[in-house]
Amino acid sequence: MKKLVTLIPGDGIGPEIVESVKDIFSAAGAPIEWEEINAGQISVDTGGKLIPDELIASLKKNKIGLKGPISTPVGKGFKSINVQLRQLFDLYANLRPCKNIPGLVTKFSNVDLVIVRENTEGLYSGLEYYDERLGIADSIARVTKVGCYQIVKEAFEYAKNNGRKKVTLVHKANILKQAGALFLQAGEEIAKQYPEIQKDEIIIDNMCMQLVVRPEKFDVIVTTNLFGDILSDLCAGLVGGLGIVAGANIGKEASIFEAVHGSAPDIAGKGIANPTAILKSSVMMLEHMGEQAIAKRIDKALDLTLSAKDQCTGDLGGKASTKEFTKNVIKNL
Ligand code: NAD
Repeated sequence: MKKLVTLIPGDGIGPEIVESVKDIFSAAGAPIEWEEINAGQISVDTGGKLIPDELIASLKKNKIGLKGPISTPVGKGFKSINVQLRQLFDLYANLRPCKNIPGLVTKFSNVDLVIVRENTEGLYSGLEYYDERLGIADSIARVTKVGCYQIVKEAFEYAKNNGRKKVTLVHKANILKQAGALFLQAGEEIAKQYPEIQKDEIIIDNMCMQLVVRPEKFDVIVTTNLFGDILSDLCAGLVGGLGIVAGANIGKEASIFEAVHGSAPDIAGKGIANPTAILKSSVMMLEHMGEQAIAKRIDKALDLTLSAKDQCTGDLGGKASTKEFTKNVIKNL
């Protein structure tokens, strides 16, 4: 029986890469039926709301969503739809695996780490104020005890369930003494429940340096929202760039899967976007739904395609268009 998944195509390159997922799922016979609903500016332009009620109802019902990237205006305009969806459904954990793809040559060949990013608090809490009279702007990085314990627990559980050996807490508690200390305290207490897993701690600036020198040292990384956002792009760069890294927003009631990258307005509409990141996210989605066999089949076809440079898109040094890349994956299924 087919399972219903809410599909948000997004904007920019979103609809192009989502098309690729639909074509490959259909060719592979994945037991998924899409309920497609727009959000963001695209929805407003067609007379709807930024986050339509129909979308909220669909996600509540299906509990699983696949989302293309959605643009957010910089420094003005509406609050990020991505952030709003994460807060609305309490998608508290953002999982971002970064692993070398066999055959895809990059600067490093031994990266296999997972970033577990807190997804609803910190500098993304939406607590922002501007006092025009005094010329003071506040963006408040609020973390809660519940949020810190929940995300650290998620990281240790992930490590336990996936045969990982070490969890590294990334922080800036030397400067952010309150929020940083709360996060580290969660690490101290939760780690005691997992004696078989090693725990260490590192300051964010040192972490950035260590990652671009010896990324093989890291296994599971857990951190607060903004640090996680930045580290995800950095780690994507280690294994071949934003076009290939997947992401999952996990909550207790619903989960939304999406690529790490944004809507790439610089290449939108040109038919050259790399759909790998959203395809890898959709593979994570299938695994999450218990469809391991079909997930593995699609992932293998994807890796086989990526191992031949001429079959890849331009960001990976190939010449294939999005559609040609999709056809190559289907051929390799
Ligand atoms: P971006 O990730 O869209 O692009 C950064 C660079 O990577 C660009 O040069 C782009 O061409 C390239 N790139 C990204 N994805 C690619 C792909 N699949 N194939 C080939 N090249 C790819 O980041 P940005 O330019 O900072 O952001 C653009 C918009 O996306 C902004 O409005 C931002 O708010 C939004 N955004 C959305 C999400 C999301 O929906 N989760 C995440 C990040 C950014």
